[in-house]
Amino acid sequence: MDCRVCDAHDFSLAIDLGHHPCGNLFLTQEEVGQEAFYPLRVLYCHNCCTAQLDHTVKKEIIYSDRNTYLSGVTQTLRDHFLKTAQEVDDRFFRTTTTKRALDIGSNDGTQLLYYQKLGYEVLGVESCKRISEIASEKGIPTLNAFFNLALAEKIQNSFDVINASGVFFHLEELHSVTQGIQKLLKRKGVFVVQFLYMKNIMENCAFDQIYHEHLLFYTLHTLNTLLHRHGLSLFDAAFSTIHGGSIIAYASHTGDYSATPQLQKLLEAEEASGCNTLEAYQSFARRIVKLKEQNLTFLTEMKNQGKTIYGMGAPVKGNTLLNYFGIDKRYIDFLVEKNELRKGLYSPGMHLPVILEKEVASPPDVYYVLAWNFKKEILKNNENLLRQGTQFYFPIDVKD
Ligand SMILES: [Zn+2]
Repeated sequence: MDCRVCDAHDFSLAIDLGHHPCGNLFLTQEEVGQEAFYPLRVLYCHNCCTAQLDHTVKKEIIYSDRNTYLSGVTQTLRDHFLKTAQEVDDRFFRTTTTKRALDIGSNDGTQLLYYQKLGYEVLGVESCKRISEIASEKGIPTLNAFFNLALAEKIQNSFDVINASGVFFHLEELHSVTQGIQKLLKRKGVFVVQFLYMKNIMENCAFDQIYHEHLLFYTLHTLNTLLHRHGLSLFDAAFSTIHGGSIIAYASHTGDYSATPQLQKLLEAEEASGCNTLEAYQSFARRIVKLKEQNLTFLTEMKNQGKTIYGMGAPVKGNTLLNYFGIDKRYIDFLVEKNELRKGLYSPGMHLPVILEKEVASPPDVYYVLAWNFKKEILKNNENLLRQGTQFYFPIDVKD
C-alpha cells in the first residue's frame, strides 16, 4: 500500500489491536453475532511520519444510515461549537457583510446553527441520510452526500469559513476532499479543522481513539504535509480538551496569512516530544498492553467482590476498548447512553446491551466510564450518585 498522505511505501507496523468490528455499527438483536471483523492496525510512514490504518473499511459501510453518532447530544460539544463559531467570526469576519460557512461532515447541524445565528449563510454536507434530515429539520440546509472534489465542483458558492470537525480525517478520499476544500475556500477564507491530536492520544494512552473511521492520526507536522500538497497551509492552532485532546487548527490558501507565534510554539513542543518518531509509537504500543492488564485486574476484583458494573456511555471508541480488552457480559451488564438512536441496540463484538440513562432502575456499584473524555461533565451530572457511593472508574484517565 501507498502512504495515504505522501504516496511513499516505507512503513513499519506500529500498533496491532487484532480484528475488530466497525465500532459505530451498533447491532439489532437479530444482527448480534453476524457483524464483520476487520484488522485494526496502525502503520508508521517513515517518509512523512503519518500514522495510518492499513485496512480501509469502505465509507459506504462505515457512514451508512446505520451511523448513530449525534454531535448535539452533549453540552460540552455544544459549548465547544458555539465558542469556535464566535472566535472565528470575531477574529476574521466581524465586518464582512455577506458571509458563508460550509461544514463537512456536518452531522446534526449543531456547528452550523451557531454560524447561522451569527449571520452566515450555511451549508452542511452529511453522508448519513437520517442525520442530515435531523439537521434539515432544524433549518440547516444539508446535502446528503460524501464531500469530495466532484461534489465541490457542483457547489456554486465559495466560502469564508469551511469547517471540518474530526470527520475530515476519517475520509478515505483524502486528497480529493482536500482539493475540494481548496476549491471552495475564498481567498483569505479560513479552513477550521478540529482533529484528535496524536501527541495527546499517546500521552494519555488513549488507544481507543484507534478505530476504523480514523484512517489517519494527525500531528501538526503531518497535517501540514497533507495541506501543502494542495496549496493550503496551517497558520494557527490551539490545543483543546475536546474529545480528550484535540487541536483546533486554522488553515488558509498558502500565503494568505502568516504563521502565528502560537503555532510556532506548538510545532516546537511537538518536535521536542518526539511524537513523530517510530519509537514513540512503539512505546505507546507497550503501554496499551499494560493498560489492558490494569483494567482487567480492576474489573475482576470488582466482580469477585460481587459488585455490579455498568458501562457509562456507548461511544464508538468504547468498542475498541471493550473488544481489545475482551470486556463482555462477564464484567458489564449494560452500557448506559443518552443518545436515543442507540437505544435497544447491542455493542458490536462484545454484544453488551445499550439502555438509556432514564431506563436505569437502580444505579450499579461501579460505572466503567467509556465516555472518559466527558469526565468533568459526567462527574458534575452525577454528584448524587457519587454521594450515594457509586464508583466512577475511568479506564483512560486524563489529568486536568
Ligand atoms: Zn507518508
